[in-house]
Amino acid sequence: MRLTILGRSPASPNPGEACAGYLIEGGNSRVLVDVGPGVVAQLLRRHHPDELDAIVVSHMHADHMLDLVTLRYVYPWRGHPKDQRLRVILPPGSADQVLDLARGAGNPRHFEDAFQLSEHDGSSPLSFDGLSLTPVETVHFIPCWGFRAAGDGRLVGYSADTGPGDAVGTIADGADLFLSEATLRNLDEDAQPPEQRGHLLPEEAGAAARDAGAKRLMLTHLPVDGDGAWARNAASEAYGADAEIAEPARTYEI
Ligand SMILES: [Zn+2]
Ligand SMILES: [Zn+2]
Repeated sequence: MRLTILGRSPASPNPGEACAGYLIEGGNSRVLVDVGPGVVAQLLRRHHPDELDAIVVSHMHADHMLDLVTLRYVYPWRGHPKDQRLRVILPPGSADQVLDLARGAGNPRHFEDAFQLSEHDGSSPLSFDGLSLTPVETVHFIPCWGFRAAGDGRLVGYSADTGPGDAVGTIADGADLFLSEATLRNLDEDAQPPEQRGHLLPEEAGAAARDAGAKRLMLTHLPVDGDGAWARNAASEAYGADAEIAEPARTYEI
């Protein structure tokens, strides 16, 4: 199984980096999870989107899906036969938002002539040839699903965006690699009580990975200047082993 980091930025981009975008390859399948601003340009360095089996969107925050608008322009401006359109799998209940996005981009049919849009059901595995992604709902400001991706006898857990809670442990449980957001530098950056939290500190990602028995912890969706030592050190101490920082454009064998 292979994981390629197309973008690791949080919503406010790190200079020169894309927002959330992760290429997961397993079995005979290749799936892009999240397509935030800047991700399409990174994807095209490696693959035409027709080489993807699907795009799966964790949630409808702009830093995870806004480059769907850009992606449309990779295709000629004419309709494609339905069975040749790229599958785009959205979170439950988001179809209207996508239509709004299309209208905002100047054409209500912006997506439908190039993509096969569908929604997952929030819990059933998304099955591809030799690869499956099981959605797990996280704790976030809007409905959001992380994924447990299984293929080639390996398992990658992706937290998407999440505050602390049971979902983090479920996603990380026994994973060969837990790809966790670590967006917060301090708790002042998260929502304040009585609102529920929506992101993790690096040490919270580390503690969750430790408790879940994740074999490898990689931090992403975080502000990085320099080498990210502030996050790596905090996460490693809680994890009890070395945490890694996701590196843009790098492919990891899992
Ligand atoms: Zn979000
Ligand atoms: Zn985000």
